[in-house]
Amino acid sequence: MSPDIERVIALQRLDSAVIDAERRLADEPEREKGFAARLESASERLASARHRLTENQNARREIEKEVAIQQARLSKFRDQLMDVKTNREYQAIQHEIEIAQNEVRTREEKILERMIEADDLNATHKRAEGELAAEQKAVEADRRTMQGENGELKASLERIAGERLALVAAIDQKVLAIFELVARKRNGIAVAEARDGICTICHVRLRPQVFNTVLRNEQIIQCDTCNRILYSTPKPAAAARDNVGQPAQ
Ligand SMILES: [Zn+2]
Repeated sequence: MSPDIERVIALQRLDSAVIDAERRLADEPEREKGFAARLESASERLASARHRLTENQNARREIEKEVAIQQARLSKFRDQLMDVKTNREYQAIQHEIEIAQNEVRTREEKILERMIEADDLNATHKRAEGELAAEQKAVEADRRTMQGENGELKASLERIAGERLALVAAIDQKVLAIFELVARKRNGIAVAEARDGICTICHVRLRPQVFNTVLRNEQIIQCDTCNRILYSTPKPAAAARDNVGQPAQ
């Protein structure tokens, strides 16, 4: 393979690594938003569980107040019962007592319902607390992983910049000019492998004569369609030899 082709392939590898690293680094704010959303969602679940528990407790306290009122009425009626003069009066107060007793009973049933409900709400609240704590830990770990990866990406960008300088200094200036021009027009991808007669990036079939020249990897040939510099990966002789005698797949 001609040294120039080797160099443009190496140059493309570096530039593609830069594009990839920059894209991943640019994802950081979006990933941060994802972390924040996860924490917010867990916090909201906890707040909602806490709210329902408070509502339950407030409702129960209200009913307990009502029970106290009815019990105060009951004891008042019982006192009055001591002082009644007529059977009619007696029956009237007895009737009031029954009403008040019914009121107390209904409310005590409601209190019981609230207490049973509170068991579930307490459990939900506790679970939501645990889930928030777990999510905080998980987000922290994911953020540390991301920061580690991004630190490595930044370091690799610096390393690549150094390697690229050396490569650019060694490459033929005309070839470099073609590379830079195509890279600018084609989103940074100036080199394409040709395989089975096709440019593997724009997928257009090459003229047979062009493809045959590319197969030799001796000169800079551009794809007629996307203008990328073409190269061909030589069929590995070793692999071809190893395949001999193996059953067909
Ligand atoms: Zn092409």
